[in-house]
Amino acid sequence: MMFYTNNRTNLSHSSVFNVTAATFERKQPLSSDIAVIMYTSGSTGIAKGVMISHSNIIASITGMAERIPNLSEEDTYIGYLPLAHVLELCAELVCISHGCRIGYSSPQTLADQSSKIKKGSRGDTTVLQPTLMAAVPEIMDRIYKNVMTKVEEMNSFQRTLFILAYNYKLEQLSKGYSTPLCDRFVFRKVRSLLGGRTRVLLSGGAPLSAATQRFMNVCLCCPVGQGYGLTETCGAGTICEYWDYSTGRVGGPLVCCEIKLKDWVEGGYRSTDKPHPRGEILIGGPNVTMGYYNLEAKKQEDFFVDENGQRWFYTGDIGEIHEDGCLKIIDRKKDLVKLQAGEYVSLGKVEAVLKNCPLVDNICVYANSDETYVIGFVVPNQKQLLALAGQHGIRGSWEELCNIKAMEELVLKVITEAALTAQLERFEVPRKICLSPDPWTPETGLVTDAFKLKRKELKTHYKDDIERMYGGK
Ligand code: AMP
Repeated sequence: MMFYTNNRTNLSHSSVFNVTAATFERKQPLSSDIAVIMYTSGSTGIAKGVMISHSNIIASITGMAERIPNLSEEDTYIGYLPLAHVLELCAELVCISHGCRIGYSSPQTLADQSSKIKKGSRGDTTVLQPTLMAAVPEIMDRIYKNVMTKVEEMNSFQRTLFILAYNYKLEQLSKGYSTPLCDRFVFRKVRSLLGGRTRVLLSGGAPLSAATQRFMNVCLCCPVGQGYGLTETCGAGTICEYWDYSTGRVGGPLVCCEIKLKDWVEGGYRSTDKPHPRGEILIGGPNVTMGYYNLEAKKQEDFFVDENGQRWFYTGDIGEIHEDGCLKIIDRKKDLVKLQAGEYVSLGKVEAVLKNCPLVDNICVYANSDETYVIGFVVPNQKQLLALAGQHGIRGSWEELCNIKAMEELVLKVITEAALTAQLERFEVPRKICLSPDPWTPETGLVTDAFKLKRKELKTHYKDDIERMYGGK
């Protein structure tokens, strides 16, 4: 503890130091002491303060570091998520514990094309050339959509070459081969979007769509894996092995924890399900935190200690475990809504499918249990929406286009087709939508700093639209 005085005329610096040293003994923290109270992202309601101890942090970063190959002083990590997000805190501590350099950036200045980078100037990834990067799916989706738009704008020779190389590399990867020529002559430009030196890219915090993951693996020429964890488990849970090029899975449990599945009968998930056991994911181990700050009842509900003294946490996420021990997140108990007719709709699952649609930059699916159908709030992709309007001879400013009923109907048609192609059930497809001219950024308060939807805030923001869509007006 430091002794502090404003009275500089009476005390020299050295005497301040002496007084401090003589009066106070520095106490080392105990491993069970609280290191951080970190708030959950609050995507489903009020954010809860999670009490994270020093030993939780050590367990987590040990587990994470073990899954990332050859971490060393040669590595450079780019940090751009807030440190108040558990994924960022752990990623940076993993780097510090291995001597890796860290360069600080922000989501608005990451790439040359980022919104706060002046045209013609270089973005942070170009300058820093990181070797390690953690990304939330939203950032990956943006890169994916950016590159795909560029591919569509290529002349037909370039486009054919890109598609041929893409399919060839995809096939080679599935056989475990590399493709140095394609990497050098076709994908180098895409890779340079992130500085050109990335050797491991990890996505976490929300589901990464298979299309984006596959695309990243091919075009960025480095393993792009997923990790799964929660603030309550100090960010640790699973991380894919770097050689695992499968998509949609989050890997096996880290060395710091174990995973169990618990039947969720109401949702129809059981450990006896075929071909893979399914159920609510429970994470147990020294990374499982001490509970919620000032929320004793919730802590009793979500945490427990087993007969061997191990702490466990009920995640509320639904997973299935594959033969090789890898976990796949298939649903979220927290996002499940029962429609009036009794069908369960997984909002997150529907959003993940519809976000793959090039016309959709972001989407929040909403369902009221008193109603028989699902609705959606959509942030359309500007370029795609303008093109769609042009095709149908609809004119107007960007704001006007987003408010024209005919545009809503056209977008709804495209979305419905995409949903049915992806084999969503009819009742899962939004029957009405509204278009938002403004993107959802953390500054608007409608998404978290990791770009997760804040459902409660979105519901309030679109209150009038919800009434309109359910009122049939
Ligand atoms: P939070 O601790 O509030 O940042 O969010 C934790 C939640 O994020 C989990 O309960 C999951 O629903 C979700 N999540 C984290 N990582 C993944 C992932 N790789 N895939 C799917 N969902 C994830």
